[in-house]
Amino acid sequence: MGIEAAAALRRRGRQVTLVHLMDRLIARQLDAVAARALLASLTERGIDCRLNTTLARIDVDSVLSSQGERLPATRVVIAIAVAPEAGLAQAAGLRCQRGVIADGQLRTPDAAISAVGECCEIDGNTFGLLAPCLAQAEVWRSGGRDYYLCGGFLTNGRWHVA
Ligand SMILES: Cc1cc2nc3c(=O)[nH]c(=O)nc-3n(C[C@H](O)[C@H](O)[C@H](O)COP(=O)(O)OP(=O)(O)OC[C@H]3O[C@@H](n4cnc5c(N)ncnc54)[C@H](O)[C@@H]3O)c2cc1C
Repeated sequence: MGIEAAAALRRRGRQVTLVHLMDRLIARQLDAVAARALLASLTERGIDCRLNTTLARIDVDSVLSSQGERLPATRVVIAIAVAPEAGLAQAAGLRCQRGVIADGQLRTPDAAISAVGECCEIDGNTFGLLAPCLAQAEVWRSGGRDYYLCGGFLTNGRWHVA
């Protein structure tokens, strides 16, 4: 999401600095080679990418990076992922940590309730892309196939950064 915003702002002629916590972009879905290609593409567009960096402080016209560097900024876009809102599930007595906890067949301890999509947590993982969610829907539709055998796990996804 942050990369999409950065690319769009750059297309509009803004000076853009992309600050990223990890040592590579989209680390959960891209391997090192693909992440390097994406980084090169963004850099070619004039986006100043800072990896292994977070923001220590946001001020009116600048931000302070975790490396102690002050970066001029009139706008700050924060894209640090979403967390499932599991209040309803919790109130229904389901186990929830990062999301609604389900097994490989998406079953919760309540036989009448399955967890599918971004709200669901399997083996400590949550899923913020369409492809794994669609694979989960397929598991649910098929009534018992195992999610790990359905090919929609973490690496699968389509990206709109053009
Ligand atoms: C801006 C943006 C860009 C994205 N870009 C990409 C991308 O490029 N590629 C990609 O793979 N994924 C992308 N995603 C992620 C993708 O959209 C999600 O992973 C996917 O939509 C999750 O599907 P879902 O059915 O689990 O949840 P959702 O699509 O969020 O659907 C949940 C539905 O439940 C409804 N709901 C919530 N609470 C209740 C309630 N109490 N009662 C009744 N209904 C309720 C909501 O209104 C909503 O319609 C993007 C997401 C966003 C926000």
